[in-house]
Amino acid sequence: MAKTTKTKKKNVHTKYIFVVGGVMSGVGKGVASSSMALILQARGINVTAIKIDQYFNVDAGTMNPTEHGEVFVLQNGLETDQDMGNYERFLNTDIPDTNYMTSGGVYLEVIKRERNLGYKGKNVEAVPDIPNEIIRRIKLAADTANAEVAIIEIGGTVGEYQNVLYLEAIRMMKNEAPDDVITTMVSYLPVPGSIGEMKTKPTQTAVMALNRVGVFADLIIARSPIGIDQKRKEKLSKFCNVHTEDVISAPDVESIYDIPLNLEKDGLSLRICDLLKLKCGTKSDLGAWKGFVRKTKNTKDTVKIAVVGKYFSSGDFVLSDVYISVLEAIKYSSYKLGLKPEITYLGSQEFEDKKKLQNLKKYDGILIPGGFGTTGVEGKLNVIEYARKHRIPYFGICYGMQLAVLEYARNVLKKKGASTEEIDNKAQDLVVAVMDEQKEKIAKGDMGGSMRLGEYPATLKKGSQAYKAYRSADISERHRHRYEVNNQYVAELEEAGLVFSGKSPDGKLMEIAELPRDIHPFFVGVQFHPEFQARPLNPHPLFTSFIKASYESK
Ligand code: GLN
Repeated sequence: MAKTTKTKKKNVHTKYIFVVGGVMSGVGKGVASSSMALILQARGINVTAIKIDQYFNVDAGTMNPTEHGEVFVLQNGLETDQDMGNYERFLNTDIPDTNYMTSGGVYLEVIKRERNLGYKGKNVEAVPDIPNEIIRRIKLAADTANAEVAIIEIGGTVGEYQNVLYLEAIRMMKNEAPDDVITTMVSYLPVPGSIGEMKTKPTQTAVMALNRVGVFADLIIARSPIGIDQKRKEKLSKFCNVHTEDVISAPDVESIYDIPLNLEKDGLSLRICDLLKLKCGTKSDLGAWKGFVRKTKNTKDTVKIAVVGKYFSSGDFVLSDVYISVLEAIKYSSYKLGLKPEITYLGSQEFEDKKKLQNLKKYDGILIPGGFGTTGVEGKLNVIEYARKHRIPYFGICYGMQLAVLEYARNVLKKKGASTEEIDNKAQDLVVAVMDEQKEKIAKGDMGGSMRLGEYPATLKKGSQAYKAYRSADISERHRHRYEVNNQYVAELEEAGLVFSGKSPDGKLMEIAELPRDIHPFFVGVQFHPEFQARPLNPHPLFTSFIKASYESK
């Protein structure tokens, strides 16, 4: 269970920017919110970003990734939405658990308070008690961060039943302090091929839906395939009650990293400061970000990485959002090395047929990210065996590490009946098994709380691949797993050449398994999720070593 971050003493006056979505989901509210946060940060303002999900899941841990996308784990272990990852990456900082809420969490708190007589005999009502709890949490997050500006992104799309009580919270906060609260609508303006013209009506309708619940847009971020023209800005201004200069053009771009620079070029940070009557620095310091963006465009050569997972398909479409932090981490390290990453998504099921393994030859490196359950596992094991034997750089994350250990047990130790408790709890050799500390929780049926979550330290073996990457023996990484390498097999695996180069400080948990450099150019599996700490301005050293080895073994 996640610990709650301690509240600091408040000594600043906070201003609030709400971000809501119009017309459809997936228009880029998360990137818009992160970009706004970054350009305000660049003006010397202390900004924090908050995400609200309307689901009744108490946290994102129990949501299916193919429906919801990646589960992003915060430092203290809270399982959240992938947008929290965007905030951390753009702001280059850890975000505390106060900054994430779901309807499940909000309602649970209100009901618990009612059970504890916290409402002192009064009726507990949807309004104002639910919005009051939402507002309490928003203010707690702002206080914890001592934020001058808190950006609050409300999941979903305006017009849905589910986010009405959140919109009510905006209305109540605005009513209490009109100068301290603004609302940004991130909307979509289609350019239907059959018409050949950008249409504003869906956005007008979305703004109307917002107005109906007493909330008015101060800014409209106009997402569209091309930039919005003056004529349509004027139309939106007239019908949506915003100033023309507050309709911000946000056309599709090749790279999301350009977005903050484009928004800054359009004067958005100064406009926000005006609207909020906020003093901000006269200079915008986006130098480091610009340096990163330059690197993304100045690559000398390519590196081909195959990511083998099982969550890629959604109907007829390919979903890469499920592994967004992994993909981003690959990109940051590639750019750092002056390389353009060419990432291919491969479904692991296809490799159950060993003939298909030949297709892996064309990649410089193979990565198997985290995963759960039985689907595609045999395919992943075949891929790992192929990468090991053909000396293709291999990076296994979480399940990708556990399966690398299992592959070694099966094919090198010749324990053909070896398995992980997750797929066969009756197997002869449970090389990967449930952690003692998690057994009790599972027995109680508390699957939602049965994982080892959040940041834990590990100690690295000097001279190992991992040590060379981190250049330190003490590391700390975020986790999300229920199973671990079974200690009973560690000695035997080590005798057969597998090196456990990272362990928990008490030596009980295997955190990293690798093959020595003279045996394999890069074969490293990690029990944790390094991707959650990879940042554009701070690429992750293990990803950088993996990409470097992949490129060099081309
Ligand atoms: N399913 C494995 C476990 O629970 C790995 C989890 C993961 O890859 N995040 O231990």
